Amino acid sequence: GISIQGLHKSFGGRTVLDHVDLTVEDGEFVCLLGPSGCGKSTLLRSVAGLESPEGGSISFGDDTVFDRAAGINRTPEQRQLGMVFQSFALWPHKSVFDNVAYPLKRAKVGRSEIQDRVREALMMVDLWEHKSSYPGTLSGGQQQRVALARAVVGRPRLLLLDEPLSSLDTNLRAQMRREIRRIQQHIGATAIYVTHDKEDAGGLADRVLVLQDGRIAQEGAPRDVFVSPKTAFVAEFVGFDN
Ligand code: ATP
Ligand code: MG
Repeated sequence: GISIQGLHKSFGGRTVLDHVDLTVEDGEFVCLLGPSGCGKSTLLRSVAGLESPEGGSISFGDDTVFDRAAGINRTPEQRQLGMVFQSFALWPHKSVFDNVAYPLKRAKVGRSEIQDRVREALMMVDLWEHKSSYPGTLSGGQQQRVALARAVVGRPRLLLLDEPLSSLDTNLRAQMRREIRRIQQHIGATAIYVTHDKEDAGGLADRVLVLQDGRIAQEGAPRDVFVSPKTAFVAEFVGFDN
């Protein structure tokens, strides 16, 4: 699992992550929920190694990937994770196959293994027949599935998803939620999924964490948090009347 302790980050003197403590179990699917600007992406990016927090530590199992005091800060590649962004961040000039193969090529995986693993990942998202297409010719949902295939092709122990469905319509969102959950379980990854959408959280999460101004305001099973919010902030955020 993942253990985050005392993670602190500010931008220009403004605290964005306020000594966050968080533990995620192996194989657990956690949703990080909260309003715009509360620090969700910053937390996810810190776990990915794309931010340098000013304090705290992050461990994946026994492996410390970040410890400010000890001067440990592993690169994103060393952290062996898969990440999906809100904007799909596909290479427009590369085919679907080459987009998905990219992380394996960078990791110097051999040709025939790349072929096998890209096929497996693209079959998983039902896009193998589109392997030679370019991203610009695919629908939003198809592009999102390519991004998902690319995130899982390296069989990461940790899957980080930052509002991956926000540009999709309601039907596609529901379909993609099932897809994401199925793939996460198939590869046995631990997942942190950032969203400000309660339906995403309710439909996906084993546990939700509501973030308020860089602190965890409440955590628990989606039902418990939605039905029994502990603070006015959480109540307002998860309220079905807003
Ligand atoms: P949203 O739901 O809108 O994506 P978020 O919860 O993901 O919001 P963050 O992107 O983590 O929020 O940003 C938290 C705060 O940190 C915001 O006030 C933002 O302006 C600020 N911030 C984030 N990145 C930077 C940066 N590189 N430089 C300066 N300020 C930043
Ligand atoms: Mg964000």
